Amino acid sequence: MGPGIFALSSGPPPCGVAVLRLSGQGVLRAVGRLLRARRLPAPRRASVRTLVDPASRQPLDRALVLVFPAPASFTGEDMAELHLHGGPAVVAAVQQALQALGLRPAEAGEFTRRAFEGGRIDLTQAEALADLIAAETEAQRAQALAGAGGRLRALAEGWRARLVELRALAEAELDFADEPDVGSTDLGPALATLAAEVEQALASAPVAERVRQGLVIAVTGPPNAGKSTLVNALAAREVAIVSPHPGTTRDVIEVRLDLGGVPATLLDTAGLRDSSDPVEAEGIRRARARAAEADLVLALGDGPGLRVVNRIDLTGEAPGIRDGVAYVSALTGAGLDELRAWLVAWARRQVPRGEPPVVTTARQAQLLGETQACLREALVERDPVLRAEALRLAADALGRLTGAIGPEEVLGAIFGRFCIGK
Ligand code: GDP
Repeated sequence: MGPGIFALSSGPPPCGVAVLRLSGQGVLRAVGRLLRARRLPAPRRASVRTLVDPASRQPLDRALVLVFPAPASFTGEDMAELHLHGGPAVVAAVQQALQALGLRPAEAGEFTRRAFEGGRIDLTQAEALADLIAAETEAQRAQALAGAGGRLRALAEGWRARLVELRALAEAELDFADEPDVGSTDLGPALATLAAEVEQALASAPVAERVRQGLVIAVTGPPNAGKSTLVNALAAREVAIVSPHPGTTRDVIEVRLDLGGVPATLLDTAGLRDSSDPVEAEGIRRARARAAEADLVLALGDGPGLRVVNRIDLTGEAPGIRDGVAYVSALTGAGLDELRAWLVAWARRQVPRGEPPVVTTARQAQLLGETQACLREALVERDPVLRAEALRLAADALGRLTGAIGPEEVLGAIFGRFCIGK
């Protein structure tokens, strides 16, 4: 069990209820001290108690107290939760008392890291938990939740177990290669099935990446075409605008849209003029590159993508989408509901409905890609020594995927993504 840590796991005070989370050595004893050595609540049962500062003996708060003795806790260690009144002074006073009792503030991602180190979750679940906390739209939530539940972990562990058996067979063949009585086992069919399963999981990676990063929609057209007005109008109608993304330069406007559960970033290219400032020029270059790689272009003017005819308030054309052209007035809002509906339908086509993708991060795709390549090699390799080696490398890649084997930097990169208290 690691040293005792605590962190505010709920949002910043002032708030209705502030949840302090505790894990590790001395946690149950520290909670006991705050309860003036009265009995701890029964495991996993909420109980309303007065917390008392052991030093001054003054009451700190009336709080809901929960304890989760090891190993039946998120981290696998002794854990507790104190649900306090969410005032800054209340939270600060209880944190101070915990520190005086020998606990220390947790680092970002430390609870999740302990859960990983205690074997409660694997690396793919840790990644999915980070995604779940970052999820802004329905598609992101569904995808992250499936991963956090251990879907990829279960698959990867199953594949690795089968590989271990196949390796044993392949290596037995090496040992008995000279003995005429031992017929060689044909690993081919089992290997091919395994490779096909890995490939199927991998096929979902591009969709997952789109859901994670969001689709990119660039609005292009000559100066004064109404690009900024259109972006602002679409953004203003957004019910769930999550955050206006800080653009690369102050001239580039990016807006996050929730297109029927699928996240998208709308890029206004109006501000992309040349600049002599090197930092700004670099920002503009990147923004241009992003726009060039956009999943969809809304072209106010000529150009590929969905053509948008703006200013119908002046021309008197009817709003709506006809023959692949959107007729709108960015100024009056006419035709924007139809454009938005079109965008939602388009976004949903990019992200097929049904089962959320299995492989959800670039790291996972990379390692499964390696697994796949090694399996393919093992399938065609005639030399038994090289074949056994290819199988070993495939199993290794799966081990790195779940974190059963892995260098410290990888762990740092994954757990560094978390906030304090997770
Ligand atoms: P950008 O340079 O392409 O970003 O163009 P702006 O969005 O800045 O628009 C240029 C001007 O056209 C502004 O004065 C807008 O108010 C105006 N404008 C944009 N859309 C419309 C529209 O649908 N109807 C009318 N009448 N004016 C518009």
